[in-house]
Amino acid sequence: MERQQQFLTENDCYKAGRLIQPKGIMIHSVGVAQPNPDIFIHQWNQSKVPVCVHAFVTDSKVVQTLPWNYRGWHCGSGVNGSANNTHISIECCEPSGHTYQGGTMIGYNVERNQPFFQKLYDNLVKLCANLCQEFKLNPLQEGVLICHAEGFQKGIASNHADVLQWWPKHNMTMEQFRRDVQDELEGDEDMTQEKFNEMMTAYLEQRGVKAPAGWSEQARGWAEGLGVISGDAGGKKRYASFATREEIVQMLYQIFKNFKA
Ligand SMILES: [Zn+2]
Repeated sequence: MERQQQFLTENDCYKAGRLIQPKGIMIHSVGVAQPNPDIFIHQWNQSKVPVCVHAFVTDSKVVQTLPWNYRGWHCGSGVNGSANNTHISIECCEPSGHTYQGGTMIGYNVERNQPFFQKLYDNLVKLCANLCQEFKLNPLQEGVLICHAEGFQKGIASNHADVLQWWPKHNMTMEQFRRDVQDELEGDEDMTQEKFNEMMTAYLEQRGVKAPAGWSEQARGWAEGLGVISGDAGGKKRYASFATREEIVQMLYQIFKNFKA
């Protein structure tokens, strides 16, 4: 997933620069058939625009438009828009080809748009899992990961239907979305050799500083006296860590050298 940053620095919301401690994420959809986020970014990056969000998601990328800990303007104003104080806002771009009539999608071709939706959805799940990790959010906890319409039901957002005017057409529910984000958080699908090596190094370091047990005290004294155990470059004896074959022959060599003399 490609990730870009294009902060809306000319938007009055960005200029206000109010900070929040993110307690959740609110998912929106743009409400027009426009898959290109640059259109919104261009329109919103100026003063006197009453809206501003943290990111746009499409089938091919994520564009972050506000620092995550900035207060966004995404779910109305006044008491009904209190989620602005708590929730990171993400706009899902919509594919082209449909129109709206009183909040209802007209002429939306589910079959044609399924690949777009699936790719956008996968990007959104990954982004939300990353944000949940960064801000220590539990996606399954009540009110944490919600859409605009759910925010309205909870009395913390203005009266909009997104994303429930759209996602159900693809048989997607917010319950399923929350589970998918949780699965992504738990999953080790993203384990790489590089990450494994990092974890292994950290694990060996932990073992390296672990104190040895009392039962080996006599043997340790003997081994150190003979120079069989002399510590690593940092002087650590690493008694609870592993020995390589190279270290083992070095130990044997020290022992035999001593007995030959
Ligand atoms: Zn919305």
